[in-house]
Amino acid sequence: KAVFGGLEKMLDNWEAEARQDSLPEELIQAVRTRLRDYSRLSPDSRRDALKGLWNRIRREVGKDITPEVEKQAEAESAAEAAAEAQVETPSPQTEPEPEPASQEPEPVRKAAPEAQAEAQPAQPAPARREPRLTPEGPPAALEAPVTVLDGVGPKSADRLSRLDIQTLGDMLYHLPRRYDDYSQLKPINRLEYGDELTILGTVQSSSVRKLHGGKRQMVEVIVSDGTGALRVTWFNQPWITKTLREGAQIVLAGKIEQYLGRLVMNNPEWELLEEKNLHTNRILPVYPLTAKISQRWLRTQMDKVVNYWALRVQDPLPQILREEADLLDLPEALLQVHFPDSWDDLKAAQHRLAFDEIFYLQIGVIQQKRQWAERSAATFTADEAWKQAQLARLPYRLTNAQLNALEDIYKDLASGQPMNRLIQGDVGSGKTVVAAYGLAVVLMSGAQAAVMAPTSILAEQHYTSFGSLLSGEDGLLQPHQIRLMIGATPNSEKEEIRQGLESGEIKLVIGTHALLEDPVVFQNLQAAVIDEQHRFGVQQRAALRAKGNNPHLLVMTATPIPRSLALTVYGDLDLTVIDEMPPGRQPVDTYVLYPRERERIYNLIRREVAEGRQAFIIYPLVEESEKLEAKAAVEEHRRLQTEVFRSLKVGLLHGRMKPDEKDQVMTDFRDRKYDVLVSTTVIEVGVDVPNANVMVIEGANRFGLAQLHQLRGRVGRGGGRSYCVLIPDSENSMENERLAVMAETTDGFVLAEKDLEQRGPGQFLGSRQAGFSEMQMASLTDVRLIEKARKHAHALLEADPDLQAPKNQILAQTLSQRWSAGEGDIS
Ligand code: ADP
Ligand code: MG
Repeated sequence: KAVFGGLEKMLDNWEAEARQDSLPEELIQAVRTRLRDYSRLSPDSRRDALKGLWNRIRREVGKDITPEVEKQAEAESAAEAAAEAQVETPSPQTEPEPEPASQEPEPVRKAAPEAQAEAQPAQPAPARREPRLTPEGPPAALEAPVTVLDGVGPKSADRLSRLDIQTLGDMLYHLPRRYDDYSQLKPINRLEYGDELTILGTVQSSSVRKLHGGKRQMVEVIVSDGTGALRVTWFNQPWITKTLREGAQIVLAGKIEQYLGRLVMNNPEWELLEEKNLHTNRILPVYPLTAKISQRWLRTQMDKVVNYWALRVQDPLPQILREEADLLDLPEALLQVHFPDSWDDLKAAQHRLAFDEIFYLQIGVIQQKRQWAERSAATFTADEAWKQAQLARLPYRLTNAQLNALEDIYKDLASGQPMNRLIQGDVGSGKTVVAAYGLAVVLMSGAQAAVMAPTSILAEQHYTSFGSLLSGEDGLLQPHQIRLMIGATPNSEKEEIRQGLESGEIKLVIGTHALLEDPVVFQNLQAAVIDEQHRFGVQQRAALRAKGNNPHLLVMTATPIPRSLALTVYGDLDLTVIDEMPPGRQPVDTYVLYPRERERIYNLIRREVAEGRQAFIIYPLVEESEKLEAKAAVEEHRRLQTEVFRSLKVGLLHGRMKPDEKDQVMTDFRDRKYDVLVSTTVIEVGVDVPNANVMVIEGANRFGLAQLHQLRGRVGRGGGRSYCVLIPDSENSMENERLAVMAETTDGFVLAEKDLEQRGPGQFLGSRQAGFSEMQMASLTDVRLIEKARKHAHALLEADPDLQAPKNQILAQTLSQRWSAGEGDIS
């Protein structure tokens, strides 16, 4: 059985105790000598060594040994009994009274590699889960700055801060980005090219050579282990020859490569055999780094922090929950996620940490939903005849999905609690009319409403649509009661709008986040609509709400969020899905073409324009920089206008243009003053030009499928055939395979699921989604984990809604820390 930190680590304690018990000095020394190299012995030799020692101890002091201990000792090993005696310290949670120190101050973890230190790579690690040494003393000082660590001064602290590490707690949660498995050991004569493993050996010779006229230096070391010799080199680290002297016993971990027909190792991890096997001979964590922080250094610091502090972390999850959910306790999970004993242990640790992420998010979201539901809101109702009369004014019939969504909204408005609903519907599914008719019931009573959109173009478009839906002939409102407020609105007009809203004369205001930034005060805001929710954060939702007194809130998104994600992220919202398209929509013919086939695409555009249609050509976001993006678009626009489409009119739209310029270009395009519009992704959201039927997307591989789907949704609105052509940057077949899904399905939800699998949740969330910046571990595609975390979050809150129970106290604290970004706001 394994012993924490290796049997050697027990020796000091054992020696002190043995002296106290006045064991003969000779015996003490014999034990020391036999066990000093214990970790390097084979299992058989270990057994022999222990048996021999045991017999000797028994011969000399046998009278004190009880038969029970004896039996166990024979079955296993002498060391185990001692180890077990040490670990039965109660956990700090059940017994906060610190025990007097009875062991070395820094509890050392078991050195797992030791168990595999022989050349038996095929043996699977046994499922070991022995109790840990529970530390004494106060719980972890996780808030302590990293400078409390030996060897971490202000300089290192400064470098660490670039990794967002300020405190010991930050270090514990600075998780490896991957792991290398060097837990396998082989003799040198059995090495094979390509092996990634660990070697034990003795340095035969070491030398430094200058390369490239002295610019680079190479350390060359010959290591042998009795079965053979291996040449090992390091570049530009001449100092290591100081340690790697002839005769030094070392452990090397790395990849076996070939040089001039012979096996070699280049730049392996290494350490002296005497050291704890931290950098070799184990599953090795590989951390994200920053300038002037080396893997080796960080790993050493991590080792200190993890081994000392992780054990002192108090687990916020009550034990019963941990048991039911089959989770590692947090100290163990933190330990294993940094320095896993086996891949299984690592998996269990990752599972625990991932569970935490979803679990806390869920608890927060559920609590917010509950708080919101506890508030009361004004009720708005309309009779059936009125509703039917409204619908009768439309030039088309609503789809069943639209009618159902509208029913959900009417119910919410009549409920007495503030509506808090997310409407999800694919591009073109007709969300606008649903929102407008929902607001109509509120507006009819004389109350005010607001609509917020992420871009000026979209706000303007909504201004037009809401205007025609609500203020047309015998409409609900007069045109002057509906106003548009965006960044570009002149100050004098803004002032006028402010006055109108404060007096209550203006009933509906439509705008961008300018609405939030502006000190507008509403006389009586009772309902708000947020379009393209994923572009806004929780804070913005809250800010809009704060403009009224518990107003009803409707958020809409065309991003088809996969169900697992929607439940998690938008768990505080009620969900309505519009899963039906208005009739007559034709699927867009979608193709993936290589860059060299561009001429074919240009021909397609010429042909469609000749038929009176229009085309979009989209250029991707370049390195998240609007400036570069605009430059690329400007350049392409010039090229297309002067070289490709000389006889056509080519327009240009990009994010750096002023809002009124953008508006002008969009209006001109809609009015067919341009045949082709070259644009960046600013048109992604909601712009409607039914006559356009060709969408070309350059650099398509840089987009998520969901985003491509949004872009594709810009065409196919006006009847007739329409086309979407995806052009990846390269002919990389992997990329194109991903894109090929676009040609296979027009179902936004299918694409979103695929996207989630391929690219993770980031794109659905936006960086501002509170609670999610913390997600490092959880995969939102892991529906089972999500369901499990949700189930336990619900059960916990059911039993203890306000987290008052003593056993939930640490949890309550942790929760408020994790959610502190959204302080008191209700999303
Ligand atoms: P989105 O859900 O993407 O916001 P819109 O609300 O902009 O979609 O609607 C897209 C287009 O479909 C608009 O021109 C709208 O007038 C039209 N539309 C909406 N509902 C229907 C319907 N039931 N039948 C026909 N056309 C509709
Ligand atoms: Mg829309």
